[in-house]
Amino acid sequence: MKAINTMSLTFDSLEVNESFARSATAGFFTQLDPTVEELCDIRTAVSEAVTNAIVHGYRRAPGKVRLTARIYPGRKIAVAVRDNGCGIADIEKAMEPLFTTDPEGERSGLGFSVMQSFMDTIKVVSAPGKGTTVTMHRTLSPLPDDAGESPHISSQGAEE
Ligand code: ATP
Ligand code: MG
Repeated sequence: MKAINTMSLTFDSLEVNESFARSATAGFFTQLDPTVEELCDIRTAVSEAVTNAIVHGYRRAPGKVRLTARIYPGRKIAVAVRDNGCGIADIEKAMEPLFTTDPEGERSGLGFSVMQSFMDTIKVVSAPGKGTTVTMHRTLSPLPDDAGESPHISSQGAEE
């Protein structure tokens, strides 16, 4: 399906950029008038994906994180978070609740579970040495008066 509006950000893999990434993403989606709860869910899911890119993908070393947010017809949204870090050898295992490879034991292994519960679908594409892309989709609830589409945006001018 072709997106009707797209936004991309590339930022350094620094923890200070986590809050920037989630706020920028939420700001982009406000044009759809989501509920406070929906925005909160999206912010949390984005935060988990960006944290994973920084902490696991790059192991806190310098790198670039690329975030792309898309709006599709029918109030469907997608967020993709990509790193060019170490990659994941066993994706299925990594996505199991409580699985973590954190050597310092600070993490609980629940990031993917949080993303799964707050978004409708989550897809992980990754390979060792090739980085990781996490793509999450969700359909927002209809507007109260609704037509199903945001009145604020038209279908012109966006790629993909
Ligand atoms: P928490 O998110 O609860 O703080 P966690 O980050 O370990 O803990 P998940 O977010 O569920 O838990 O991730 C599970 C595991 O998947 C991680 O421990 C790590 O091994 C791997 N992983 C996740 N994202 C990436 C990534 N972008 N690059 C490399 N490995 C990743
Ligand atoms: Mg995590």
